[in-house]
Amino acid sequence: MRIVIENAAIATVDGEEAGTEYTAGHVVVNGNVIEAVGEGKASDGPADRRVDATGCLVTPGFVNTHHHLYQWATRGYGQQSTLFEWLVELYPVWAGIDERITNAAAVAGLTRLARTGCTTAADHHYVFPRDGGDVFGATVEAARRVGVRLHAARGSMDRGESHGGLPPDNIVETTDGALAGTAEAVDRYHDSSPEAMVRIAVAPCSPFSVSDDLMREAANLARDKGVRLHTHLAETLDEERQCLAEYGCTPAELADRLGWLGDDVWFAHGIHFSDDAVKRLGETGTGVAHCPTSNGRLGSGFARVRDLVHAGSPVGLGVDGAASNEDGGLGVELRQAVYFARQNKGPHSASARDGLWLATIGGARCLGREGEIGSIEPGKQADLAVWRLDTLDHAGIADPVVALVFGALPPLRLLLVGGNPVVEEDRMVTVDEADAAVALRTASRQLAEKR
Ligand code: ZN
Repeated sequence: MRIVIENAAIATVDGEEAGTEYTAGHVVVNGNVIEAVGEGKASDGPADRRVDATGCLVTPGFVNTHHHLYQWATRGYGQQSTLFEWLVELYPVWAGIDERITNAAAVAGLTRLARTGCTTAADHHYVFPRDGGDVFGATVEAARRVGVRLHAARGSMDRGESHGGLPPDNIVETTDGALAGTAEAVDRYHDSSPEAMVRIAVAPCSPFSVSDDLMREAANLARDKGVRLHTHLAETLDEERQCLAEYGCTPAELADRLGWLGDDVWFAHGIHFSDDAVKRLGETGTGVAHCPTSNGRLGSGFARVRDLVHAGSPVGLGVDGAASNEDGGLGVELRQAVYFARQNKGPHSASARDGLWLATIGGARCLGREGEIGSIEPGKQADLAVWRLDTLDHAGIADPVVALVFGALPPLRLLLVGGNPVVEEDRMVTVDEADAAVALRTASRQLAEKR
């Protein structure tokens, strides 16, 4: 299948700053990869499909670097809570998830992501009820059905209340059980090929729900298997206070001590870092998933995105779980990231193009896939979003990137993942959205009734 997209504005995001842009250019897709990109018409050649994208902007598909898809079935709880208050309210609800509820939530969440330009999604799943069936497999199946790439981070918690942790004892695993389940997930699903649709990461949940042993052994397991490491870190000042009281060091220092800094690691949030911590993350190439909407909803603080990027740390965007971001779309996070940075450091601290950069190549770097996805360059995977800027919402905005990031999220003319259409004319190709909504409503109600 050879697809020729023509007459479009194109933001390739192929450089350290904004990257090369074209005002009326073409992208040629051959099979699952990008064959050519440039100004003007495509050079002659056979095309199975031609897309006249006049009035559209083509960007790389967005990369979501942190999510908890199962939380789509638990939106709207703890709507005025701090992180710890919110977790204490939600843990007993999450204890009721099973593979059917998780699948319905993941289909809904991934559909929302695709509808907002996302072609690769990282998911962090750390709740494994004993009678819940195969909740991890249910998420992988959902991604295959929706058609987006999944980086499934196999989470875990082994420190319940009786061992000084925050979660109730009935939703934590044993240390050995968590490690065995994680190793099994890697062996069963991880695909290291450039076109991989599913990769696995090793992902104990957070310092306040996981033992030191599990953190250390998880790092050993990931490095033994050649997969990446992920966890929540430095999200709130409550977490920092608890860490100082318990370990006598900050969360970043604890991560360093446990072997958790390196270019194979990315942290969710990474808000409360000192200058020394930012420098250390940068020099080790440790990544950060910036989740501005979730941070706003929980009042957690402002991540030091610009400082981290300048220090050398890969930074991408994440929506976080839908229980702390009911919108669940990735498109709005570009604007949120820019506005958060400006509220914190003034209007010169971030541009619309910085938002696009974080959502694309920045995210690809967090996931270790900058050679495969995240920019529009020949040889890379054909993960493309074709945005319609020809409606009233964007009329008169001359700069297409400013229209995309600062304006209303545009309809998608087309979303391709590895050359396969997932969204056409702003409608899902792969799943029936009405059916997905019915399944999600049923799952949410059943979960609420289980409490
Ligand atoms: Zn999270």
